[in-house]
Amino acid sequence: MAQVNENFLNLEKNYLFIDIAKKIKAYSEENPDKAAKIIRMGIGDVTLPIAKAVVDAMKKAADEMGVKETFRGYEDSGAGYDFLREAVSGYYKSFGVNVSPSEIRINDGAKSDCGNITDIFGSDNTVLITDPAYPVYVDTNVMSGRKIIYADCTEENGFAAMPDENVHADIIYLCSPNNPTGSAYTRDQLKVWVDYALKNNAVIIYDSAYEAFITDADVPRSIFAIEGAEKCAVEMCSLSKTAGFTGMRCGYTVISDKLVMKTSKGEEISIASLWNRREGSKFNGVSYPVQRAAEAVFSEEGMKQTRANIEYYQENARIIGEALDECGIKYTGGKNSPYIWLKCPNGMGSWEFFDYMLHEIQVVGTPGKGFGKNGEGWFRLTSFNTHENTKEAMERLKKLIIDK
Ligand SMILES: *Cc1c(COP(=O)(O)O)cnc(C)c1O
Repeated sequence: MAQVNENFLNLEKNYLFIDIAKKIKAYSEENPDKAAKIIRMGIGDVTLPIAKAVVDAMKKAADEMGVKETFRGYEDSGAGYDFLREAVSGYYKSFGVNVSPSEIRINDGAKSDCGNITDIFGSDNTVLITDPAYPVYVDTNVMSGRKIIYADCTEENGFAAMPDENVHADIIYLCSPNNPTGSAYTRDQLKVWVDYALKNNAVIIYDSAYEAFITDADVPRSIFAIEGAEKCAVEMCSLSKTAGFTGMRCGYTVISDKLVMKTSKGEEISIASLWNRREGSKFNGVSYPVQRAAEAVFSEEGMKQTRANIEYYQENARIIGEALDECGIKYTGGKNSPYIWLKCPNGMGSWEFFDYMLHEIQVVGTPGKGFGKNGEGWFRLTSFNTHENTKEAMERLKKLIIDK
């Protein structure tokens, strides 16, 4: 009889977004007059369309596929075409980080690599994950039966957990700027993590999906801005949030040749070579039109148009932050991030505040508890709605909190 991977039975049932949808549906049915007023401030996806320069590049590439002379089949390595790896390398250079095209692999988004990278690590590793966190880190390690320890992100540490020198970890997941908390590590804080990883011979899986939202000069756009990171870190980034590619699917993972670990026999082994071997067997690359579209993101025109979209979201984040300041509500994020992580007022729990907002002002957000135990009492708002809706939602919030 075929045996199933029983680690899957240990996965938490994640009903967060299903429960939210259920509550909205029930409320709308009970209050048909108010249903149309509902504003969704919990959107976890980009909403603005892909930049024109990017769409044009994709169309041109699609046409090439229909002509014998320019048609392309399988890509040789599946690691990404040189034109795109060079463009990504140039992008890194634009914020002062040296990454060579050969250290970059193109993928169909950061989620895949975040989950798949577990293949190349042994099952006896101790994995350190922040709480709260993007659920992929926990779920994929539960699936492979690894021991997980948590680093608490709390109000006291500004939701930016730092390593505990008395605790050993082998694999560390960091996401900065963070989803869901919007907090971002400064250069000095990241240096502490890198030093900890080097001392523990650990690998940091660094998720920089939101790097394009960074505005503070002392928050690095890449972990490779930190000395020593090339010897301990794998960086995963994506065009999903940078350029609205959530429905296009393209990202990149960076591993330096200097990242080596020892086998049980004491031989040095390069993490990049293991990863390339894994990908060579299980992944056949990203479609040519999408890679051309991704290349266009990094062109002058593409960058300009893409930045305009990010600035649109940043303005929403600013509007939200300003309203929360006026309400005297504590929060992290908004700066360097499309997410605003706020402390539910009057000691309310995450779901209690969710219900309160829905019933009183018809504004929907995401209960922080859905991202981990430390999320209880916190709430995530996002900047992915329109200016008009964001302003309206914040006017309603101010009326509710200040006038009551
Ligand atoms: C959105 C997001 C990603 C990107 O995922 P893709 O698969 O590239 O769309 C990665 N990490 C986090 C934390 C995210 O929120």
